[in-house]
Amino acid sequence: MPIQEVSPSLANQLLGCRLRAGFARDPTLTHWRRPTTYSALGLVAHTVSEAVFGHGHWPSDANAVRDKLQDLWNEETERQAARLAAAWHPAIPPPADQWPGYALTRARTIRRGERILDAQRRPVQSVHAPSGSQGSGIEVSLRDTDTGLFGRADRIERDGSSVRVVDLKTGLNQGEPTDEQRRQLLLYALLVQRTTGTWPATVAIEDAAGLQQVAALEPAEAEAALAEVRTAVNQFNQDVAAGDLVTSAAPGPDRCRWCSFRAICWPYWEAVSSSWGHRASCGNVLDAGATAGQTFLVLDIEGPSDRKGTRLHVSGLAGDPPSEATKAVVIDWTGETASGSVQARWSTILRSW
Ligand code: SF4
Repeated sequence: MPIQEVSPSLANQLLGCRLRAGFARDPTLTHWRRPTTYSALGLVAHTVSEAVFGHGHWPSDANAVRDKLQDLWNEETERQAARLAAAWHPAIPPPADQWPGYALTRARTIRRGERILDAQRRPVQSVHAPSGSQGSGIEVSLRDTDTGLFGRADRIERDGSSVRVVDLKTGLNQGEPTDEQRRQLLLYALLVQRTTGTWPATVAIEDAAGLQQVAALEPAEAEAALAEVRTAVNQFNQDVAAGDLVTSAAPGPDRCRWCSFRAICWPYWEAVSSSWGHRASCGNVLDAGATAGQTFLVLDIEGPSDRKGTRLHVSGLAGDPPSEATKAVVIDWTGETASGSVQARWSTILRSW
């Protein structure tokens, strides 16, 4: 359970909420970490984008390139859709073409692949160096045994003597890099320096359209990021040794909104308020059953505390009614909580005991 090695994504978890990092490291809790349509779509786009850089045998004909990119997209989509369906059974996720942002992400990713492959065929090379140059490539595994920092950089580009660390973001709404994205880039840059002896000149976020937001790399900033992470690792290990990870929870409306562990996190339920807009409730089960083939549940709400004592009727739940349960947590539904009656979605989480 104590942390010996830390990746940039674990570093971000630790600096956000140490309890979340603890949940994520517990092998008995992996079933709470289910993929979403957003993460599935991101993986498809990521795989196709990186294949453009990593695959050595692309056709020279533009139509054949497009066909190959589309085939790759379809294969990967099928794989991620099957993974999503297995993780959410008996709920049924929507088909891939109904995932939010699917059509636009697909069009942008394929167009971008065509553009890059076209540029690579021209005599003057683009800034995107193909894999194979020393210290460059895609999905580059990096490790620093002195600090325990390790990770897999999306892409390391070399243009002459200048090196750039690139992190690929496939979401449609990538704006200015967030603090977490910036920290991730700094840690990858530091890993490059530790493994090659040379600092990258720049770091960049690349969006789904292939546009890069480039920033100069300041080594002092990267070293400061590492020091911050090492402090967080030490705090985490002290919490674990003291058996006191729960008090390190840092609940908040934005931080918890997409956390996979809300259903089992009591600091969350003690802090959550209806003003957070999370569509999540816990409480006593007043009734559970099935009408017209649909599972329903009636909760006497205990959390959010500002709704304590009110009732919530949730209909359309997947699976059998939790008839023996006295307590339940329900997260994610459609409809207005204030009306007292809401409809489950395919992605509604129900935990009962
Ligand atoms: S729900 Fe919030 S407080 Fe609980 S582990 Fe997740 S991020 Fe931390």
